[in-house]
Amino acid sequence: MKIEMPTLPYATNALEPVISQKTIEYHYGKHLQTYVDNLKKFVVGTEFEGKSVEQIVEKAPEGPIFNNAGQVLNHTLYFLQFKAPSAASKEPKGKLKDAIIRDFKSFEDFKNEFAAASVGLFGSGWAWLAADKDGKLHISKEANGSNPLHHGLKPILGFDVWEHAYYLDYQNRRPDHIKALWDIIDWEKVEERY
Ligand code: MN
Repeated sequence: MKIEMPTLPYATNALEPVISQKTIEYHYGKHLQTYVDNLKKFVVGTEFEGKSVEQIVEKAPEGPIFNNAGQVLNHTLYFLQFKAPSAASKEPKGKLKDAIIRDFKSFEDFKNEFAAASVGLFGSGWAWLAADKDGKLHISKEANGSNPLHHGLKPILGFDVWEHAYYLDYQNRRPDHIKALWDIIDWEKVEERY
């Protein structure tokens, strides 16, 4: 992907009551915009100028370029994986569902393990469902702005557990926010990434 803002495929209030319009306006409109602006600025004159966001996340060493590229990739995948609760399918179908059952026993077991990783991540970071080169699924806990791509895994579904993702709507209740997110996952979109 290019270093640019993704276009949201839904209205800013479409994810309510799971994610409020106000949170989308700050999280997408302010936080992500800042990561995009910073990354554009930081790559100028470096070996990463003109590279895709994915290439930067794969290759950049720890530091401001890596942190901002990770957050552009993370948030782009994050905001594009949602759908209004009334329209969301609530569970995957097809090959992703088969792989989840193969690697986690059941969809419920997967959700429980993923929620535990999200809730248990200390501080700021991300929980990701990611696939290795053989298609095996892994739950990956990433600190701060990192992404599974940095370790050679393909990111499929990500939960942002930075407080800015939920504090306006849930304050300190991260588990309640994580539980609610399952109602807005666009599983068709997520499966396209697998
Ligand atoms: Mn965020």
